[in-house]
Amino acid sequence: MKEEHDKREIALKRSVELKDRIKDYLDLKDTIPRGMSSKQEENIFQKKQKILYLLNASENDWNDWKWQMKNRISSIELLSNIIKLTDSEINSIKKVEKQFRWGISPYYVSLIDDDPYNPVKLQAVPSMLELNTEGCSDPMAEEYTNPAGVITRRYPDRLIVNTTNVCPSYCRHCQRRRNIGIKDSHAKNDLLKESVEYIRNNPEIRDVLITGGDSLTMSDSKLDWLLGEIHSIPTVEYIRIGTRVLVTMPQRITDNLLQILKKYTPIYINTQFNHPLEITREAKAACDRLADIGVVLGNQSVLLNGINNDKYVMRLLNQELLKCRVRPYYLFHAKHVAGTLHFNTSIDEGIEVMEYLRGYTSGLAIPTYIVNSPEGNGKTPILPQYILSRGKDYVKLRTWEGKIIDYPNHCIKNLKEY
Ligand SMILES: *Cc1c(COP(=O)(O)O)cnc(C)c1O
Ligand code: SF4
Repeated sequence: MKEEHDKREIALKRSVELKDRIKDYLDLKDTIPRGMSSKQEENIFQKKQKILYLLNASENDWNDWKWQMKNRISSIELLSNIIKLTDSEINSIKKVEKQFRWGISPYYVSLIDDDPYNPVKLQAVPSMLELNTEGCSDPMAEEYTNPAGVITRRYPDRLIVNTTNVCPSYCRHCQRRRNIGIKDSHAKNDLLKESVEYIRNNPEIRDVLITGGDSLTMSDSKLDWLLGEIHSIPTVEYIRIGTRVLVTMPQRITDNLLQILKKYTPIYINTQFNHPLEITREAKAACDRLADIGVVLGNQSVLLNGINNDKYVMRLLNQELLKCRVRPYYLFHAKHVAGTLHFNTSIDEGIEVMEYLRGYTSGLAIPTYIVNSPEGNGKTPILPQYILSRGKDYVKLRTWEGKIIDYPNHCIKNLKEY
């Protein structure tokens, strides 16, 4: 009897200790801005009314993704009528736009509030810091990995089809900036056909990733055709779509699009939420509609200085994503792309973020932290140090709480020798 009682005592003591492990997070999490807080919903409502008024548009227009695309905001005058911009910010945009394109969907603009460091504003509105001339334009040497059509192939069994350079909003941190030109252009049909042929002729390709730009800016009919062609190749096991529309233009997830996607199951969609402020009611509804028809959703964040290089913001972001049935997949370390260097963090910061996920939150909420090796050498996963040393018989491990343990490093015997 006494023994049972002691065990319970120990468990209760441990519970208090465990709760204490996340006390810092619990105290702080409500101060992190979120897309579905009543404060932000009020801001979105006000901004939306203002935009509809300025563009002389209706609620129906707002819900029409083609209207959102056509009305991407890229005029300083219009933008400064919607959000607060200082004179110096306005001057910066004037200078930067000579060199780099900008444009923001009305929906994405409506997420910006008066905070000068609003995480959506930092991702969407050009900043003077983009004019820093360091960095390279093609750190992954994508130009040397194009065997046919609009394909990028860097791995044995899978490849990318770059369908477009068009996006609903041009992210200031875009790692593919080189491809995001002055003019919108979707890949020509003959290049897409050549890409499909390449996949057909190389049966080791079992996983095809359709990306861009933002691949869901393609028209329904073109997407239907391309997905149909790829789906009809027997050696392709599933299709992945890379798109940021769930974040920048959730209106894209129409009934017609769902009907198309349904035909080509299994489909995986990976998107890019970078901050909990981007998880709005509309974004969640779009995720729900996709998940309801069986599309598997994943998220690829970019670790961005001043936006999400914070262990608490990342923990909240990944937990909020799971509520939308979006599974955190990758956390990308930002590359040295010219014009985006102010978003770069150290690898140490990325490791710290990862350190405070494992154990502290669900394994489901933990993405893999990835550094893209220079010159197209592929993705390298980075973890905090959990293996302290490796001996012949023992491996010295560190647990998430920092306990050090010796773990046996051998198996008993080859089963066949018994
Ligand atoms: C990132 C990437 C992929 C997909 O890699 P996964 O690790 O399977 O998600 C495929 N091809 C290229 C060229 C890539 O850069
Ligand atoms: S949506 Fe993707 S490709 Fe388009 S600008 Fe943003 S990061 Fe770049």
